[in-house]
Amino acid sequence: MANTTRIPNYAKMKTHALIEPYLRLSLPLPMAQVMAQLRVNLYNLKINDKKIPLQNQTSCPWCGEGEGNSDHYLLYCPHLETTRSKFLNLFLSTPTANFIDLYNNYKNSPDFYKNIFYFFTECFKSLDSPF
Ligand SMILES: [Zn+2]
Repeated sequence: MANTTRIPNYAKMKTHALIEPYLRLSLPLPMAQVMAQLRVNLYNLKINDKKIPLQNQTSCPWCGEGEGNSDHYLLYCPHLETTRSKFLNLFLSTPTANFIDLYNNYKNSPDFYKNIFYFFTECFKSLDSPF
C-alpha cells in the first residue's frame, strides 16, 4: 500500500491497522472531516460551500502560482503566510518538509487538528469563489 499512486499521502501515513488518533480524540465533526480530506488527498478540500484543489489538479486559488496541494497551502503559499503564522507557528517550529511529516509529528495532539481546521477556515474566508 505504501507505493500506491491513487492515495499517496494516505499510504504514507497509514502504516498500521490501528484507528487514527484524530478519530479517537472526540474532535468536532468538521475538524475530523478536514483531517480526513487532507489525509486521503483525493480531489479537493471542502469546507461548507467552498473547496480548494488537492493533488495539483489546478494551481493554488490564493497565489495562483503554486501547485494546489496540502503541502503548498500549509507550508509554502506566500499569500497564506499571515494565517499560517497565526495558527501553525508552534507546529512548524521544527523543520517540516510536507504535510505527512507535520501529521506524523503531531498526530496525537488535539491542538494540532484544531489549528489545522482554524487555519483552513480562516484561509477560506478570503476565497471569493470555488475553483
Ligand atoms: Zn499559493
